[in-house]
Amino acid sequence: MTHVITRACCNDAACVAVCPVNCIHPTPDEPGYSTAEILYIDPKACIDCGACVEVCPVDAITPDTKLVASQRRFLDLNARFFDDHSYPRPGFVEPVRVVGRAPTGEPLRLAVAGSGPAAMYTVEAALEATRGHAEIHVFERLPVPWGLVRFGVAPDHQDTKQISRGFERILAAPQVTVHLNVEVGKHISHPELLAHHHAVVYATGAPGDRALDIPGEELDGCASATDFVAWYNGVPGAADRTFDLSGPRAIVIGNGNVALDVARILVSDPGVLAKTDIADHALAALRRSGIQEVVVLGRRGPEQAAYTTPELLALADTPGVDVVVDPADLGAGSVSDGTRSPKVAVAAQFATNRVRGARRRIVLRYLASPLQVLGADRVTGLRIGRNELITDADGRQVAHPTGATEDLSCGLVLRAVGYRGRGLPGVPFNDEAGTFRHLSGRVLDDGRPARGVYTAGWVKRGPSGVIGTNRWCAAETVAALVEDLASGRLPAPSAGAAELAALLAERRPEAIGRAGWLRLDAHERAIGHAAGRPRVKVVDTDRMVAIGLSGE
Ligand code: NAP
Repeated sequence: MTHVITRACCNDAACVAVCPVNCIHPTPDEPGYSTAEILYIDPKACIDCGACVEVCPVDAITPDTKLVASQRRFLDLNARFFDDHSYPRPGFVEPVRVVGRAPTGEPLRLAVAGSGPAAMYTVEAALEATRGHAEIHVFERLPVPWGLVRFGVAPDHQDTKQISRGFERILAAPQVTVHLNVEVGKHISHPELLAHHHAVVYATGAPGDRALDIPGEELDGCASATDFVAWYNGVPGAADRTFDLSGPRAIVIGNGNVALDVARILVSDPGVLAKTDIADHALAALRRSGIQEVVVLGRRGPEQAAYTTPELLALADTPGVDVVVDPADLGAGSVSDGTRSPKVAVAAQFATNRVRGARRRIVLRYLASPLQVLGADRVTGLRIGRNELITDADGRQVAHPTGATEDLSCGLVLRAVGYRGRGLPGVPFNDEAGTFRHLSGRVLDDGRPARGVYTAGWVKRGPSGVIGTNRWCAAETVAALVEDLASGRLPAPSAGAAELAALLAERRPEAIGRAGWLRLDAHERAIGHAAGRPRVKVVDTDRMVAIGLSGE
């Protein structure tokens, strides 16, 4: 018997650290880890001890005997990975951890901006690296924690959201204080954070979106997937957005996992979504939706698509939805070595599948770029240009226009072409890249490390990887920080916890602490429980604050 890693894998590699035979790969210190779609268990090496199952934060690991029908293909996916990769065994992989203290012996006083995965892994790593000799303050601009786990992960991926159980444990550590509803740069400045802490780690994610820069993009009916995701996931302030779902066709531009998430949500059975934590306003709108077809547009071929194979496979599990690929899109010029690419194999499978005549469908189109959003005062269609693949000077397969165009009618265009990080006053930022310039997590100012300023997650390395990738990203940052602390490069802060508390009480009386979050969490879960849902999200900021502060 072997264990199998399935779709929900978060890549945090907690399983790697406990595997006694080194059968889970790639490990964080192996090439390919940062770009791995999921981790894989070598069926020839697995001794079926189940240690990995115990520590997996998202319940993604299953014995092969317990795989349900839709998971059985992961048996093959795990095994096939090892056709092309070999690793020494047996062995034991221990993540490299740095342990250190300030030369003066005082506890590390650390501010972390953000409360998503990168922030929580930073807190975890800082607690480990100081053996708990730390006082950590987490600042989050929204009234609730967990960043993209709450507001990015699609509502039909509840298994992935389970990772927040681990974050709850991190936040519950006595050394950690959370300040929700407090925005760094607005309610407390960067110099003030530094005055109260040895160091600050910015793990503020990538809340902005990238534009297409094509004519018509400003038309009503054309929006970013970022806004659409914020809307259906109940980001405070996003509930009032409206999206016209009345037309029969929507087009999603981009070939990443966000494009697949958005396409899936647009065609999912509202009855299925009603069992999730999707925001109520979005559920009501989706119940009235007239959309029957979502076209997902990739500018390159199926082999170059940015989405991951497990997410592509999962599209086919969407009840009542056909997934359609035109066989012509898989033809010459779109793939270089199609037989070896699992993504091409899955797309080819979709192309040969018999269309079941489902009520709704997702059409995956490749080698097509958006040229112009069509319409006079609102979207009526999209002009697309056909591409071919050419190899550029760096050996990369890039899209090259053939000159052929086509107009596709639609009522909604969503661009899902990537996110961008944002800077904040007083901290050097690379606006072009949407990330901090950094060296191993040390933020650089004119090429030199800025004293006490660090970064982790998407705002450090750009919007890439899955949730667990941030664990190793944060570990690198904390290793640099603790090294600086131990070598005396981080002078003791001039003010302490009491001064910080007084400052926040004056500046932000609406700040919510952990007790307030637990109250809001319990409230949402209780309402959800009554309706057979994991939770019903409160989406109004004033109401969130009122519930959060109700017991104070
Ligand atoms: P992404 O993975 O970077 O994908 C962006 C896509 O947009 C690419 O296909 C890119 O094509 C395309 N694109 C960029 N500019 C374009 C243009 N001008 N015209 C047409 N297409 C264009 O970004 P994402 O989907 O926003 O995802 C961000 C990160 O979150 C990823 O790491 C993703 O895996 C992760 N995520 C994971 C999950 C999950 O695990 N379930 C869910 C959601 C998000 P090119 O490749 O040709 O540039």
